[in-house]
Amino acid sequence: MAQHTPPAPRICPACDGFASAAVTIGGRDHRGHLRTITAHCPICQGTGTTDARRSPEGARA
Ligand SMILES: [Zn+2]
Repeated sequence: MAQHTPPAPRICPACDGFASAAVTIGGRDHRGHLRTITAHCPICQGTGTTDARRSPEGARA
């Protein structure tokens, strides 16, 4: 009996959806703001979701 399961969420497993983060690099700019860089998840390229194709289980020959 085939079991129907809802499609898996495509949230990136590497970052769990938190695809980018501001990282302080120290110091402050001339306006007194913290200097930060934005780091994107290398797996999902900062999108927070995976571009996974259909599961192999869904394909039948
Ligand atoms: Zn990610």
